[in-house]
Amino acid sequence: MKKRILIRFKKNTIDKPIVYRLAKDYDLIFNILRAHVYPKAESIMVLEIEGEEENFERGMEYLKSKNLQIEPIEQDITRDENKCVHCGICTSVCATEALFIDRMKKMRVGFDYEKCVACELCVKVCPVKAMNVYFD
Ligand code: SF4
Ligand code: SF4
Repeated sequence: MKKRILIRFKKNTIDKPIVYRLAKDYDLIFNILRAHVYPKAESIMVLEIEGEEENFERGMEYLKSKNLQIEPIEQDITRDENKCVHCGICTSVCATEALFIDRMKKMRVGFDYEKCVACELCVKVCPVKAMNVYFD
């Protein structure tokens, strides 16, 4: 399985080698998609993690035992369906094709959370500010 999660670090936990432990102790492969590190405040890291389901669950339990807050990234990346006018501009910058033109649905723009890596390029180009990424 492959999942993307957001980890929130309290200011006194950012120096712990937790990502290293995920790989070494739980045999999980990780890819750091984003990291905002603030030594004197809460920091965040977005990770894509790949491995056996059981190892993933054990790894998440380990993170929680370290008092870290774990969230699926879907709740931090949203599209305001009332604002989106399906202009398609965002699909030209979305490298992972999380945003795509759905030709089966009258050329409307679809959004596949599973493919999103939270790069925020769509937020910058959307003319009506329909895309939102809130990690803070
Ligand atoms: S750029 Fe904005 S308005 Fe246009 S399709 Fe993308 S989310 Fe919708
Ligand atoms: S944040 Fe990046 S990957 Fe996610 S939908 Fe927007 S452009 Fe695509």
